[in-house]
Amino acid sequence: MKIIGMIGGMSWESTLEYYRMINERVKKKLGGLHSAECLLYSVDFAEIEKLQHAGDWEQATEMMVDAARRVERGGAGCLIICTNTMHKMADEVQDAVAVPLLHIADAAALKIAEKGIRKVGLLGTKFTMEQDFYAGRLKEKHDINVLIPNVKGRKTVHDVIYNELCLGNIREESASAFREVIRDLEQRGAEGIVLGCTEIPLLVKQKDYDLPLFDTTAIHAHYAVDYALNP
Ligand code: GLU
Repeated sequence: MKIIGMIGGMSWESTLEYYRMINERVKKKLGGLHSAECLLYSVDFAEIEKLQHAGDWEQATEMMVDAARRVERGGAGCLIICTNTMHKMADEVQDAVAVPLLHIADAAALKIAEKGIRKVGLLGTKFTMEQDFYAGRLKEKHDINVLIPNVKGRKTVHDVIYNELCLGNIREESASAFREVIRDLEQRGAEGIVLGCTEIPLLVKQKDYDLPLFDTTAIHAHYAVDYALNP
């Protein structure tokens, strides 16, 4: 088994889910008392959030590169960034280390393709929804078209992520606000919804929806384990 290097803490609420899901997957695959060999470097999310909202992506990139190098020095055989948003600097991070960075959008794209879906709605931070690094990769590398919520929907989703979910606050009121946003995307032609923020699956559950939801936390965690067991 390769050691899975994790850059986490963005937020730790979702990193906990990663850690659990990675270990559950290894247990399922290998049985018995098997568990994942992994290394986690967990950042102080307050610092990251400040840089994101100030638009200081250069400094944020430096922090991600530094974290990746630490994890690589520790012996990781592959790397995951445990957030969608911080894949904005995926190329810079990959260039800084020799081990493969397993990209969350590539993992999601595989699952989307398995369902034969070509058009998805994307929910995430406004950075993920509005910039090109995520939707562009889905389109250019995987030929998947992406719809994003309208301005009001994007604000709702972004604010709930930072003001509630990253603080561990799960509110039914916000789940129903998300339902409206998802209904609108569905009416506009989305055949599935990418939960493109690793905290959203804490709030939005497949059992409440008919259309497929792509839980990027679970998908990415499983993808990392499958790589670690069978590179
Ligand atoms: N975990 C979130 C994501 O997947 C948001 C936190 C962050 O900005 O990194 O995008």
